[in-house]
Amino acid sequence: MEAKCTMDYSKTNTIVYADYADGAWSELKNTKDDHMSLNLMNASLHYGIEAFEGLKAYRGKDGKVRIFRPWDNAKRFRRSCAYLAMAEVPEQMFVDACEKAVTENIDFLPPYGTMASMYIRPFIICTNPQIGLVVGREFMFAVATTPMGSYTGSMMKQTKALVIRKYDRAAPLGSGSYKIGANYASPMRLGMLAGKEGYASILYLDAKTKRYIEEFSSSNFFAIRGDSYITPDSPSVLPSITNRSLRQIAADMGMKVEMRTVPVEELATFDEAAACGTALVITPVCEIDDRDMGNKYGIGSPDKVGEKSVALYHALTGIQFGEREDPYGWCMIL
Ligand code: PLP
Repeated sequence: MEAKCTMDYSKTNTIVYADYADGAWSELKNTKDDHMSLNLMNASLHYGIEAFEGLKAYRGKDGKVRIFRPWDNAKRFRRSCAYLAMAEVPEQMFVDACEKAVTENIDFLPPYGTMASMYIRPFIICTNPQIGLVVGREFMFAVATTPMGSYTGSMMKQTKALVIRKYDRAAPLGSGSYKIGANYASPMRLGMLAGKEGYASILYLDAKTKRYIEEFSSSNFFAIRGDSYITPDSPSVLPSITNRSLRQIAADMGMKVEMRTVPVEELATFDEAAACGTALVITPVCEIDDRDMGNKYGIGSPDKVGEKSVALYHALTGIQFGEREDPYGWCMIL
């Protein structure tokens, strides 16, 4: 059975949160109300000073509940907080808050066998009112949860992507490698326009030279050629935890892992291509249009997902759902 949830938010029981004031974090607290009273002059609303994370909890074949690599998200979150000069959330506190949020909302965790899971959304905002563009004094860290099925409503369906050359997602030395709200506002309009033309995603190139593949608006890019797993190495893409896991799994499957600059013309040589990330896991891409250059790259078959992508998908979700061994201890079992 496959769950057909969307990315819509569906309220669960409890949100876990903590406040930061006078240089210290409060204890973790619970609220059942997902409406909070906030001063409308807080800097997060006006200047986009916000960081967030996305990870998932899974109900396993053995009945156990697993959270996938929460310590990796905790590290990335602390790095994002530091980038925005927000109060840093200690990694232990981050992981404790995720664990508490899943436990409090356990009744909303979809059953095993549905391919559905619970999305965990930690985030931090400024709470003190201010007009000046100065570092905030007060913050709120919160963790919300919501049940989530497969993003596209279909486990692995081929999609089309559009290369964009007229806009950049991230400057070469900009904020692209941080998971901060501000990065997600600018691709909105383009995403909507591309969606109307049947493209599931936009593929960004490096802003400086427009020669190399970077990533999609909300997922990393990888490709398969022969026995190689190829993924861009760039300081302005988000270091995806899914991609990091797939690189390890690919290496363990005997594939050669290449993390390097990937010229856009190399698309013509790939056997498989895909987007990867927590929400989507792996979304195969069988056509990438680089309209400005007059190139349309067909990758693999539009009717059949490439076998290496399928194998990687099953290996990763197998670990997450407790169907396969977890040799690196990625899952935190509650
Ligand atoms: N790249 C961007 C820009 C993202 O927003 C995301 C996920 O949210 C990813 C990549 C994938 O990262 P992860 O695998 O850690 O979810």
